[in-house]
Amino acid sequence: MSKSISVIGAGSVGISSAIHLQQRGWDVTLIDRKGPARETSYGNAGIINEGSMVALNSPAMHKSLASYLKNDKPQLRYNLKHIARHLPWALQFLQNSKTRQSANTAQALHSLTSRSLAEHKAFMQRAGNSHRLSEVGWLRAYRTGKGFDEETFEAQQFERFNIGRQKLNANELRDLEPSLKHIYSAGFLFTGAASVNNPGELLKEYAQQFVSDGGTLVNAEIKSIDASESRIVCRTDGDAITSNKLLVAAGPWSDNILEMMDYSVTLCVERGYHAHYYLKNGASLGRSVYDVQKGFIMSPMEMGVRITTGVDLDHRDAPANHSQLNQVLPSIKEAVDLGERTDDPIWQGNRPTLPDSKPAIGKAPNHSNVWVAFGHQHIGLMTGPITGRIISEMISGEPCDVDVKPFEPSRYIRSTKRRKPVWAMSN
Ligand SMILES: Cc1cc2nc3c(=O)[nH]c(=O)nc-3n(C[C@H](O)[C@H](O)[C@H](O)COP(=O)(O)OP(=O)(O)OC[C@H]3O[C@@H](n4cnc5c(N)ncnc54)[C@H](O)[C@@H]3O)c2cc1C
Repeated sequence: MSKSISVIGAGSVGISSAIHLQQRGWDVTLIDRKGPARETSYGNAGIINEGSMVALNSPAMHKSLASYLKNDKPQLRYNLKHIARHLPWALQFLQNSKTRQSANTAQALHSLTSRSLAEHKAFMQRAGNSHRLSEVGWLRAYRTGKGFDEETFEAQQFERFNIGRQKLNANELRDLEPSLKHIYSAGFLFTGAASVNNPGELLKEYAQQFVSDGGTLVNAEIKSIDASESRIVCRTDGDAITSNKLLVAAGPWSDNILEMMDYSVTLCVERGYHAHYYLKNGASLGRSVYDVQKGFIMSPMEMGVRITTGVDLDHRDAPANHSQLNQVLPSIKEAVDLGERTDDPIWQGNRPTLPDSKPAIGKAPNHSNVWVAFGHQHIGLMTGPITGRIISEMISGEPCDVDVKPFEPSRYIRSTKRRKPVWAMSN
């Protein structure tokens, strides 16, 4: 047991971390109550894009706050009571949408997004599933106006990080995506972006490779944890899994896991939904398309076209709210020849988001053998493998070529253990 580690959570981040740890000689037990990639990592839009380093809480959001007061936008909905209950998170989230903070966030996230595609490709090569990847770019489509605004904060960041991009006029857009109806006036193509045709299967195949390479995958729910200096015991209903280190990679449930070790975490989720549709006459899309003004993404997947929605700020476990999906449906029908919905149910996922939209990657504040990697908000599919590399290098004491300071976990993880009063310490 000299180099053993338990990883809680088999989503994009946990699976990727388990693989990187395994490659560094760790005896890894990957634990998930649902099996690999059955939660947030299952239902996302499948996009891998270096240019996705500007978070939702950016100056653009800050400037248009008043327009969200009616709470009727497909891009962002909120439950006011939930926001009130999580006011510290909400206020810090807003604080971080200012220009200086957003620019820092973009820099930190770019250190992850810029390495994402290469890291995925290395995993795909090993798992033999490169056929799931299409390197065809990611398209934003605009219904009115000239398209992407070069004066924005986001445009400055694209320039700053030299993100490959191309402006398209209406004709060029039509040539690129013949299945789109002629309602768009302009497009903006992220030329270096890629996408996968089934994120859940992709990650399941990574997990299968991890098991073939000697890793242990346990299907169980962690109910409690004893973490001492010398060993970690993760308890399920019947069993105990013992290791000498622990990595918490439970995405939107990481706060619950850390509570078991007397921590509180300023974490909220940005909920989102997907539904699968066929296009009429067997048509499909060549790449993921984001309708910027109407607030939905259409991604061609193995199982049909996946429609994904904007952000629903509510409690992770509150009843699903399909109002954004229902709201965008007429706009989708304007955009493509939409056929039937497939038999797959409407899915809800929970993007795990810390107030500054940067993940927590590093050591838990009060433990020498507990590590964390969570909080990947909208970009956790793409940044899972690079996060896995970073955290496994940190755990293994190897040098890391990414600046990890911006991801310091103590930003938002606090101990809830009461300090002993001074008089009690001498007894
Ligand atoms: C609509 C939508 C679209 C998105 N589109 C994209 C995109 O195009 N590109 C992109 O990069 N990202 C996208 N994302 C974001 C991305 O999906 C997430 O950031 C990512 O999946 C988070 O991965 P994770 O491993 O941290 O969490 P998860 O995938 O949620 O994994 C956490 C795991 O922990 C397990 N767990 C929790 N508690 C316990 C317990 N007590 N015991 C055992 N196991 C436990 C859960 O079962 C779960 O499997 C999108 C998200 C949504 C919702």
